[in-house]
Amino acid sequence: MNDFIFQSPTRFVFGRGYADKVGEEVAALGAKRVLLVYGGGSVVRTGLLARVTSSLEAAGVAHVELPGVRPNPEVGLVRKGIELARAEKVDLVLAVGGGSVIDCSKAIAFGTPHQGDVWDFFSKKASIGACLPVACVLTIPAAGSEASASCVISNDALNLKRGVNGDVFRPRVAILDPEVTFTLPQYQTAAGAVDIICHICERFFSSAGPVPVTDNIACGIIRAVIDAANTVAEKPDDYDARATIMWSGTLAHNDLCGCGRASAPEKRAGGWESHGLEHEISAHRPEVTHGAGLAVILPAWMRYVWRSNPERFLAFARGVFDVEPVDETDEATEDAITYAIDELQRFFVGLGMPRTLADLGLAPEEVDGWLETLRQNKGERFGELRPLTMDDARAIYLSAF
Ligand code: NAP
Ligand code: FE
Repeated sequence: MNDFIFQSPTRFVFGRGYADKVGEEVAALGAKRVLLVYGGGSVVRTGLLARVTSSLEAAGVAHVELPGVRPNPEVGLVRKGIELARAEKVDLVLAVGGGSVIDCSKAIAFGTPHQGDVWDFFSKKASIGACLPVACVLTIPAAGSEASASCVISNDALNLKRGVNGDVFRPRVAILDPEVTFTLPQYQTAAGAVDIICHICERFFSSAGPVPVTDNIACGIIRAVIDAANTVAEKPDDYDARATIMWSGTLAHNDLCGCGRASAPEKRAGGWESHGLEHEISAHRPEVTHGAGLAVILPAWMRYVWRSNPERFLAFARGVFDVEPVDETDEATEDAITYAIDELQRFFVGLGMPRTLADLGLAPEEVDGWLETLRQNKGERFGELRPLTMDDARAIYLSAF
């Protein structure tokens, strides 16, 4: 087991009806005036926004609203939020939504005290220092941003989607109320389940050897998500299944599943190859849902790299799908691993996710553009289990058509 530092400072407030507790929770953090950030309108339609604002009012917390965060949030709205936060002198940023809203809120929180442009952090011209506190009411279990030290923002003018990391902007409090996820469309629920599983896989397939405690946690969460997502596909208002997915999304990305697997204590475990490949797609095509892109890319990446570390892939096959090779031959190993990858992809497709990039409306002619920005982001090689060259990345993209 490698050395590690595990920090998950967020206070999680989890349960039925707990969205109504947001006022008292942010008041307990000392907030007097918050910037309330939300997305394209689902929280208005479901009545959640009204519940949140009345909870704030009841707790004596004033608020200013910033609506309109789109999926794959764009830096333009972050800049607008920063201006608003400064003009209104808010003391906390409250996200009501999913990863897109939370990431937009995080960027506003560390952009507000910064003298220059917020994109400086994403182009590595500035490093994150001061930051307003962030809180959230999560509406979709997927990105895990409610506990993560990451923030991902797109820049349409540059065709870029970039992430920054920092413990300072992890939410101080995250309200997790599974009932608010009953209204999710199946496509978003499914994309969320894929993203959750992928956050675990990115860490599981690091180059560290077995770490039994972490590996068991990882496979156990994946199994729980598969069962719960299959239940929710039939019964969208099954509370326990929704709750299982919600808590899994947090545990998948608060680094619990990476403990002992990172190459250095201050590093995140894994090479994040599938996320690296997917981010270029949704940078160029913001209409592509992150999890839907991953549903295609993760199995394609697995098929391309498993021969570099069959033991790790057998551990996955055993831990998630109870698959054992029939004997010790290379052929039996290949059969077991291929079966596990096929099962994972069957599960994704069964939830309504795409099988190929063509299913997402993408064309092979777009690959060159993705590779160009991938190279800008990652250099000539990236990844860990098997470092990928740009030729490898091209082969994976093309295999996914
Ligand atoms: P999202 O983009 O925040 O939301 C997806 C869609 O779901 C939106 O159209 C939203 O509609 C709708 N929605 C959300 N909650 C709903 C509800 N309860 N009922 C009905 N509709 C609802 O989804 P996400 O997958 O959580 O976030 C994706 C972003 O996070 C991507 O940019 C991805 O790259 C990033 N990401 C971040 C991290 C991290 O650690 N920071 C990790 C992985 C991915 P409305 O807009 O109308 O509300
Ligand atoms: Fe993700």
